[in-house]
Amino acid sequence: MTRQTSVAMTVAVEEALMARLVRPDGQEDLCLATYRPSTGAIRSTALIREVIPPQPGERHVHGNATITADYILRGAAVAEEDGCGLVVLHSHPGGHGWQSMSGPDRDCESSYANLVRELTGLPLVGMTLASGNRTWSARHWDLGVGRDVDCTHCANVRVIGDRLAVSWNDAVCPAPRSTSSQVRTVSAWGDECQADLARRRVLVVGAGSVGLDVAIRLAASGLCHLTILDFDLVEERNLDRLVGARRRDARLRRAKIHVARREARAAATAADGSIEVSDRSICEPDGLKLALDHDLIFSCVDRPWPRAVLNSLAYSDLIPVIDGGIAIDTFDDGTMRNATWRSHVVRPGRPCMACNGQLDMGSVTADRQGLFEDPSYIAGAGQAVVPAGQNVAPLSISVAASLLAQYVSFSVAPADFGEPGPLQYALSTHQLDRLDCSSRSHCSVELDEGVGNRRVELTGRHEPAEQKRMLAESVGPTTRLRRWVDDLLRSANCFLDRI
Ligand SMILES: [Zn+2]
Repeated sequence: MTRQTSVAMTVAVEEALMARLVRPDGQEDLCLATYRPSTGAIRSTALIREVIPPQPGERHVHGNATITADYILRGAAVAEEDGCGLVVLHSHPGGHGWQSMSGPDRDCESSYANLVRELTGLPLVGMTLASGNRTWSARHWDLGVGRDVDCTHCANVRVIGDRLAVSWNDAVCPAPRSTSSQVRTVSAWGDECQADLARRRVLVVGAGSVGLDVAIRLAASGLCHLTILDFDLVEERNLDRLVGARRRDARLRRAKIHVARREARAAATAADGSIEVSDRSICEPDGLKLALDHDLIFSCVDRPWPRAVLNSLAYSDLIPVIDGGIAIDTFDDGTMRNATWRSHVVRPGRPCMACNGQLDMGSVTADRQGLFEDPSYIAGAGQAVVPAGQNVAPLSISVAASLLAQYVSFSVAPADFGEPGPLQYALSTHQLDRLDCSSRSHCSVELDEGVGNRRVELTGRHEPAEQKRMLAESVGPTTRLRRWVDDLLRSANCFLDRI
């Protein structure tokens, strides 16, 4: 797959940059900022951290704006001291859409690219703000050396606030054409919004009862780049809530991602969409690297360790995570007392999962040590510590719906309202509450905002994932033959669907 570059920042950083770049007198202006790299499997993202305001005489404004070598040198020194790279930004007053570089823009950035990379050890990042409709464009000067230095134009620039605002580079990531099966979807939010949503790289972590349904509905809505991550297998005991999985899938020891890809492909409406799957765990380094290639993540897992990894990267790598879950309470006699489900967008500006009460950090270590697989530990710890994993098909759809409603608010911002904050629904009284959660002072997860590759290392060897992958592979020749026949029949069915 082609290597990509990107830029991400919080809305607070964007406002600080706008204050420098948008002038009341309508002239062009410029400034410098620092960034930290976040490196995924195929995408490198610059996470913008702080503005380095110009000092008097360090830039000249004369309709256009000119930067001085002194400003660049000071900026590079500041960046290097903070372990960061350097961003040079300028505005195109009144401009609309992704900006191509003018000759002078290119000359300016290329003339400093070698020097900045030499001083900071990281490529110079150039950015342009089209202030007419607040569109950013960006490039990483990461190609060639000396006179041959060149840039990779970014696929997008992402700004994370109560909504995810994405500026797209049509040359790298063209707007997909909408299809005849998307007419009703487009009529809900318009062509422009559909072109934005369809291009976002979205990852669903966990293809269980909630994640499978989320993935299918995202595919149906026309997403072109959907990835599903899960290492688990379909078992007979999953069939009461894994809607879409068949008895045959359990018998053939199919991976959940096999079912998720099959069902999501069947539901997909994008003309040229891709539904990728991976049997890695988000707790493994490869799983995390893959996650870093995405613009938005759905967390459909209930174990503390994977949720801790996702909780961390929402802040460290500025990739918002839509998380939620269900708890079903029973009376002592086994009858149902209540069910509650929660949903929230985890991102800078909102409390993390540890602060909003959805993640017990103390249990992360136990999960990581494999104690949740140990019956004697589970017997001693009880349900308060070990996730019970209870769910039922009639309610898992409500959990998926609450996550998807958060997604629509966060992505579409109906009537200019972004995501609503943490929500909780109680089934017994049928009451929806907005939860008043706040961050703990000095929350270490939230303080790591935008650190990128310097994030706290939470991944490692994940034995349950390794065992499940081995189990999926260790089938006999008869099961392999049955799988092959099953795939053949399904392919034939898909073919018949298309003609
Ligand atoms: Zn927190």
